[in-house]
Amino acid sequence: MKKKRRIRVNDPQLRKVRNQLRMVLIRAVGAESKKMHKEMRSLKADKNGALKTIDALSPLELKRFRELQNSENDNRRIVEASICQCATCRQIDKDMVFNPSYNMWFCVDCYAQTREFYKRIKQERKERGVSREDYDDFDEDYFKSFT
Ligand SMILES: [Zn+2]
Repeated sequence: MKKKRRIRVNDPQLRKVRNQLRMVLIRAVGAESKKMHKEMRSLKADKNGALKTIDALSPLELKRFRELQNSENDNRRIVEASICQCATCRQIDKDMVFNPSYNMWFCVDCYAQTREFYKRIKQERKERGVSREDYDDFDEDYFKSFT
């Protein structure tokens, strides 16, 4: 998806269905993550149930452990970038806006707050004659992407 998009659902019944579907997807990923954690824990457990360090795993166990870690990280990133939850506040029950610069969805409130914050910063800079260079750690491109 390349364009900025706002997905708004006004009908209360449809909002409820949307929110429940989001919850189902997030819970499914959570359940999968729990299974992966369980397998990772069993890989690290010795015969007596004590946990081994990563260094004590056999090459095959370590390979499987890393596969599980990578899958879990991928799943988490997919959920974080999905329309199911806001990239900033993690709420799942709001209308969302897609920011194509970051390939992520933000709730309408976080999107508006970020846009307003950037407007305020720009106004302050204009009033005080502060240049862009005076804000070393300010990610101008990030805030500009919300305008
Ligand atoms: Zn939000």
